[in-house]
Amino acid sequence: MQFASQLVERLRVAERVTVLTGAGVSAESGIPTFRDAQTGLWARYDPTELATPQAFVRNPRLVWDWYAYRRDVIEQAEPNPAHYALVDMEQHYANFTLITQNVDGLHWRAGSRNLFELHGNISRIRCFECAAPVTGWDDDGELPPRCPHCGGLGRPDVVWFGEGLPAPALREAERATERADVFLSIGTSAMVQPAASLPLRARRAGAYVIEINPEETSLAVIADEWLRGPAGVILPELFRQAGGERQSPEEG
Ligand code: NAD
Ligand code: ZN
Repeated sequence: MQFASQLVERLRVAERVTVLTGAGVSAESGIPTFRDAQTGLWARYDPTELATPQAFVRNPRLVWDWYAYRRDVIEQAEPNPAHYALVDMEQHYANFTLITQNVDGLHWRAGSRNLFELHGNISRIRCFECAAPVTGWDDDGELPPRCPHCGGLGRPDVVWFGEGLPAPALREAERATERADVFLSIGTSAMVQPAASLPLRARRAGAYVIEINPEETSLAVIADEWLRGPAGVILPELFRQAGGERQSPEEG
């Protein structure tokens, strides 16, 4: 795989690297992106119409079942070489921040620690009314489960369309974006705000912006480099050529 020498050099000398990931980074782990998800059992539902507070109020069981199905897929999935390359990059760079829109928890499972999960995590449940965590619910019992404090319905602890992002995490993500020497956007269609605006912010603040995606997105016009292909193939190789060492044993 041949990369532009300028690109490899930028990564080689970088001290502050910030990465934004989306559903595409987990595609090679077998987790459908939103577009891929429109097949099979759930094909007749538009994810943007299931992932809203209105949908939950209208039909809590339907939304619960959709998330239960996605949770099952995620529990059986394993991190892929792209997730592990990001763990190695965290070890390598003096200053490394990973920002994800994914709710699958695979970055954490792979070993990433300086991580901001902007859209929450599908494995946690919290009360729709009072936000208290709901734990220890029973799949054979009443679904969605009830909050032990107020009796409200349990919902996945993710950010739905129309809801705000956790402010502290977003602030940290923005800071890391503005400080970055190199900013990578990996596997995101860059359509969901505000995460989608981070690459542009990085660019304006002087970062070298790299996109990894098999398909063209709206970032094509602002990225310095678009590396066209699957993240699990491109990222480990790019990092290796930029002088990175492979540490995660499972990678490759
Ligand atoms: P998206 O589904 O809109 O876009 C996925 C992008 O990944 C596409 O541009 C696609 O071309 C690209 N892609 C596909 N395979 C790839 C690969 N192997 N390597 C690199 N890129 C690849 O996802 P999004 O931009 O993250 O935004 C949609 C929202 O969906 C987010 O809010 C996210 O929380 C949610 N979502 C999360 C998951 C997950 O946690 N794994 C899955 C589906 C949707
Ligand atoms: Zn409650």
